[in-house]
Amino acid sequence: MEVASGLAAVAKGFHARGWLLGTSGNLSAVVQREPLRLAMSPSGVDKGELRPEQLLSIDENGKIVSAHDGKPSDESLLHLRIVKDRGAAAVLHTHSVWNTILSDLYASEGGVTIEGYEMLKGLQGVRTHEHTEFLPIIENSQEMPALADRVGQTLSKYDGAHGFLLRRHGLYSWGQTLAEARRHIEILEFLLETMGRTLRIKGKTS
Ligand SMILES: [Zn+2]
Repeated sequence: MEVASGLAAVAKGFHARGWLLGTSGNLSAVVQREPLRLAMSPSGVDKGELRPEQLLSIDENGKIVSAHDGKPSDESLLHLRIVKDRGAAAVLHTHSVWNTILSDLYASEGGVTIEGYEMLKGLQGVRTHEHTEFLPIIENSQEMPALADRVGQTLSKYDGAHGFLLRRHGLYSWGQTLAEARRHIEILEFLLETMGRTLRIKGKTS
């Protein structure tokens, strides 16, 4: 399956960059819309060694419909929420050091404001470095249905956002294609790391 090979390749690349260590993070892509079928990374698998045949097929409720014994990621409900609310074709979720640090550092502000960087132009629809991207931060939780509701509320409140952070947890982004979703993660990870390193050089703590 082409979608599964694509996701496995993205997982390997992100793992090599240190964004999916210790089996963390997860990836999904739409295989078909009616009825909805999502190729989803299984829980507890090293993302650097993820093979295409290990990708699960799940339905619109997060139930496995392929012949796998594995368990879908706990965060499948968040992927499904984003696919439904944003019409995304792929959803990617990373646990990098920098996104984890900034998701905590800016939590009291409700999100990270990113502006004035050339790399912002890598986000779909952004034409100038003068763009202001607000990356909302959602308090982390293990209660997935409730967290999926909060994600839905955040997506409708910030309808121009290209991603969001879960506090002390990680980054979500998506795209109309898998390539676009991968580009968005690369852009946002670059920007968060740039901002984090800048704060460190300046000796600031907030
Ligand atoms: Zn996660």
